Amino acid sequence: MEKFNTLLYYCYSPIANAEQFAADHLKFCKSLDLVGRIIVADEGLNGTVSGTKAACAAYMEAIHADERFAKTEFKLDEVDEPSFIKMHCRYKSEIVHSGLRDTSIINPNEKTGKHLEPTEFKEMIDQEDVIILDVRSNYEHSLGKFKNAITLDIENFREFPEKINELAQYKDKKVLTYCTGGIKCEKASALLLHHGFNDVYQLHGGIIKYGKEAGGEDFEGKCYVFDNRIAVDVNTINPSTVSKCYNCGTVTAKMINCANPECNEHVTQCDECGTKLHGCCSEACVTNPRRRPYDGTGYYVKVPQPVNISAK
Ligand SMILES: [Zn+2]
Ligand SMILES: [Zn+2]
Repeated sequence: MEKFNTLLYYCYSPIANAEQFAADHLKFCKSLDLVGRIIVADEGLNGTVSGTKAACAAYMEAIHADERFAKTEFKLDEVDEPSFIKMHCRYKSEIVHSGLRDTSIINPNEKTGKHLEPTEFKEMIDQEDVIILDVRSNYEHSLGKFKNAITLDIENFREFPEKINELAQYKDKKVLTYCTGGIKCEKASALLLHHGFNDVYQLHGGIIKYGKEAGGEDFEGKCYVFDNRIAVDVNTINPSTVSKCYNCGTVTAKMINCANPECNEHVTQCDECGTKLHGCCSEACVTNPRRRPYDGTGYYVKVPQPVNISAK
């Protein structure tokens, strides 16, 4: 079976005419038969793309050949099938939505937390004056997080700025932020600095790179990802399961999409509750007439369309 690659990356680097760039870039990606999701903004690029190894290699080469993106780091995974169905490349106001468009306050190109490589992060996390801050949302950290990390009760990263007051007690500590691939930390750590936190660090490349380069040690549970895989294992040193069934509280690492397509909520659910609720998150969803048949995986993939002939 042919193996594919999935690439995760971001690059904060100003793009002039970003809207036009997005349209052209979409054509370019389609010419390589890539699938995925890319966000283009005036401040840079953020994407996950998937395709044959050759296509992914050509894509990385093209990105690196553009001097604006020469420093881009790709996190590369080998996958059995492409991690998306279609190719999307869209222009948005920010590459990660923080709601903070004032670049005079938050501009990761100018000021952001100190980057820690995975091994440096690993050396620091057990020190006394350090706190580890997970800047991701509830559905992400409920599936897995670093041991002893502080998590925030947020549904979306744009709620992060509202939570900074709750962290005031840590202003004089070394604050180590982390997220999935590093992109949110560029803004989160910049914002912490802006609010008077003195010693702010960020895990460069996020949990994904930490998994590859530091074995994922002390990351408890799984890492939520924004593609069809939903969750990936990152810890090969001391793996554990921390997530609990949304319905009964049993420890389980299984994450499902609710079988009710109108809900489609991502929840952790044990096999027993999955069988009882036909793969739904709740009794209410079980009664939905459009409920999809539950095959025990809790995973519903749309029928893949060959990307090169689809009109969109
Ligand atoms: Zn359960
Ligand atoms: Zn549901």
